[in-house]
Amino acid sequence: MSFPKSLQPSQIMWRRPPFAKLRAGSRPSLRGEARRYSATTVAAIAICASLLAAALPASAATWTIQARPARLVNGAPVLFQVKPPAKLDSLSGTWLGHQLTFSYDASTKTWFTLAGVSIETTPGKYPLELTAERAATKTSLAVTHTFAVARAQYPQIKVELTVEKKFTEPTPEQQAQIAEGVKIKQDYLSRVTPAREWDGSFTAPADAAISDVFGSQRIFNGKAQSPHQGLDFRVPTGTPVAAMNAGTVLLARFLYYEGGFVVIDHGQGFLTLYLHLSEFKVKEGDQVKRGQIVGLSGGTGRATGPHLHVAVRWQGTYLDPARLIQLPLP
Ligand SMILES: [Zn+2]
Repeated sequence: MSFPKSLQPSQIMWRRPPFAKLRAGSRPSLRGEARRYSATTVAAIAICASLLAAALPASAATWTIQARPARLVNGAPVLFQVKPPAKLDSLSGTWLGHQLTFSYDASTKTWFTLAGVSIETTPGKYPLELTAERAATKTSLAVTHTFAVARAQYPQIKVELTVEKKFTEPTPEQQAQIAEGVKIKQDYLSRVTPAREWDGSFTAPADAAISDVFGSQRIFNGKAQSPHQGLDFRVPTGTPVAAMNAGTVLLARFLYYEGGFVVIDHGQGFLTLYLHLSEFKVKEGDQVKRGQIVGLSGGTGRATGPHLHVAVRWQGTYLDPARLIQLPLP
């Protein structure tokens, strides 16, 4: 399925916008207001409503709402594309409890936003609820489209690894450093900058083999851990690490588990995280371009050896970096 079917008129409803105040003597444009008016006014409304009715179904049929990739799975990013029947001034939405802000591509007359599905989301059908604003007619329009989310197949490879005692049995001083890292991550990693800074597809941060994929389960010292929340590249210490897309450096500092840690905010709630770095090439607040070197790889923090762990966060949930890199974006 690459193109969803057009929406049925029943899925679309016009709402009275908050800014369109009805003044005494003005002509109400919504049928729900009719009962407040005299018979003469009702007659006038009837004409008005029939004109509206004539205009609406034709436009209602031409909304195109689609997802890329067309098959949504848990743990994956998704590009929503919306082609409305008329010019809009803004488009926003809600999806799986998250707020979405759309960008407009004038060349294709399409609104788009990057979103995702948490790895914990159970398979099922979920609504994408859209709200469009039209300044010309002072109206807002609500549209709902339902998407199916299927279950992704993540590898069940279990890896026996031995981790140093400073990570499994930290001293009080190390526990303080761990707590500080937890607080910094709470403060920064769920931030949402609605404006889009990413532009075009995300690219790999290093040209290297993958040593561990997203979603795989690891065993540390015999204990099963939560699924791997990133993508590991097999690189020696000192390998340049490139920004996966344009954005602003949110964090560039050393944390206990992450080691040398760079986080880039790409807007629309998307962050990319680069862990275990041996050196920083950017500082917090820097604007970076896709492909710009942000640091050198290493094995700092909790790492069994030099490698690059990258992660993708969208509004507080981790997504599969490999699926994001494979996704063609406008
Ligand atoms: Zn990793």
